[in-house]
Amino acid sequence: MIKHHPDDNLLVEFSAGTLAFAQSIAVSSHLHFCHHCRRRAERLNSIGANLMNDCDAVAVSDDLLDQVFSKLDQPIKTEAAAPTGHSKMPKVIDKLLAQQGQPRWQFLTPSLDMARLQTGQKEFEVALHRIKAGGSVAEHDHRGTEITLVLDGSFSDETGIYHEGDFLLREAGQVHRPLASRDAPCICLSVVAAPVRMTGKFTRLLNPFLSFRPQ
Ligand SMILES: [Zn+2]
Repeated sequence: MIKHHPDDNLLVEFSAGTLAFAQSIAVSSHLHFCHHCRRRAERLNSIGANLMNDCDAVAVSDDLLDQVFSKLDQPIKTEAAAPTGHSKMPKVIDKLLAQQGQPRWQFLTPSLDMARLQTGQKEFEVALHRIKAGGSVAEHDHRGTEITLVLDGSFSDETGIYHEGDFLLREAGQVHRPLASRDAPCICLSVVAAPVRMTGKFTRLLNPFLSFRPQ
């Protein structure tokens, strides 16, 4: 049961296409799991379509219609099997992984691996994090917003327990220490808008984690 959803502002921006691509990946992944938010997004899309109807017409090139029809005639590429090994993974994640090959898991600590996702967005760090069953992540805070989406399994921290599909947005300065459930590993998508600062004693161990976040 999903309990944590993107707020209205994020969903409006997502629907309008103005949300940064990196953050859209997290919202789109949430919609993959959340029927409730899919309905919210559909409602927003139809409001947007109605607003568009009230807009002034814009001139387009003479051949635009032909271009659209020729694109419709092109064969649809079938996507490769889920490279993460999780068939239930959101399409947007599988597509990103398919573009860059298999996820390249990088060892961070005995409990934590990370695989970066290339999105071409310099202001955001987008990555998959895998916490071993019962494992914990070093305590850290954020100097920018971080979106976390649980893709598989569950984790808990000081503020609650989060399950598959849960969407969390943390503002700068919120310190937390995620802990995977004892019975299964947890895979999360994280989209960080600014560098993360480790506050616990394991900071040194996490140097690889920090190296790609220049101070
Ligand atoms: Zn939702």
